[in-house]
Amino acid sequence: MSIKQADFDKGRLALERFRKMIATRYLPLLRSVTGNEKLQVVPHPSRAFTDNKTVWLPVPLALGDETLEHDKSKCGVRDAASMEMLCPMCNIEDLVDAYVFHESAHITENTFEEVNGKQFLKDIYPVIEPYLNALEPQKRTKVEDEIKSQTSPMAAANKVDPWLPMGLNVVEDIYVNRRLMKYREGTELPLILHAREAFIKGVTNASTGETYRWSENDENSQALMSPYLIGAELRELGAYLDPAHDLTGDPILEQIMEEIPNECSIKDRIAIAVKLIMHLRTLGYCPAKQDTIRPPPPPTEPQENPEPQPPSGESEPEPQPGEGEGEGEGGSEGRSDGRASAPGCAAVHRGLLGRTWVLLLRCESASTFT
Ligand SMILES: [Zn+2]
Ligand SMILES: [Zn+2]
Repeated sequence: MSIKQADFDKGRLALERFRKMIATRYLPLLRSVTGNEKLQVVPHPSRAFTDNKTVWLPVPLALGDETLEHDKSKCGVRDAASMEMLCPMCNIEDLVDAYVFHESAHITENTFEEVNGKQFLKDIYPVIEPYLNALEPQKRTKVEDEIKSQTSPMAAANKVDPWLPMGLNVVEDIYVNRRLMKYREGTELPLILHAREAFIKGVTNASTGETYRWSENDENSQALMSPYLIGAELRELGAYLDPAHDLTGDPILEQIMEEIPNECSIKDRIAIAVKLIMHLRTLGYCPAKQDTIRPPPPPTEPQENPEPQPPSGESEPEPQPGEGEGEGEGGSEGRSDGRASAPGCAAVHRGLLGRTWVLLLRCESASTFT
């Protein structure tokens, strides 16, 4: 798609300003919170996610308005009704904080805890049994051995059932956010406000300027959003899903989400994710692998290029000085709108904060959480 020069300039300015904010604010903050001095923080056009070594943060397009600055008379003050920050720049920072808090919680609350592959295979057996049963014995042994050798649940789950990583992402999001809100004061409001905003307004890709809404997802992804909304106590946002796939009133989903303990190991959360997928399967969603075209895996590197795309007919912009290492690699790999073009794969807009899962179908070893 083509965008106008003015939009392109706005995107570039937003990215430039956001890079400075990362360097001065979010990188030191995330390194300090996670205790990982080597953690990288990288801008992304539309999504936030982490692989435990890098945190990608979406570029707020509003930063492209050069007049946007702090209004000192309103800084830090929230509107009594909407609870949004009255200062426009504080409001942007509040929303970015929500991403930062959430991704940091995946790291600090042990989403990346390693698993025993053998035990993991046992735990996820109900989900993958139909798939394994359909394999030749030799191939089955090979797949089982592969799973047993994994220590990352996301990577292992991806090998056999791409819905399981999504289910696990939902369970992890609820688990880490509950802990975050309980143990880190001041995190709850930005998280809730931002989740609401992502549902109500959709999410705009800073690279393409396109706005994307949850109801545009495929039915399975929308069904998977319902347990998230239940767990986050945001059931009313189910109104922004297609009514046919809004499962926020489902009592069994409610029960499953209530089972997430306040403190447990990743093994226990995997068991809940298995239950979740099995229940959705009984409702006709998230079909077992052999019945379906391969659904989308979660995001992984290489990422979309965070650079805004130049207007059509224009040449690529000159690289900016100090362009971050590793950024922009493979920018042409995925569709820039964050959606897969393969049949049967729709964009998955997941999780807390209005982040789209880019569907790079070849990323089978994905081990990122959004
Ligand atoms: Zn301010
Ligand atoms: Zn998450």
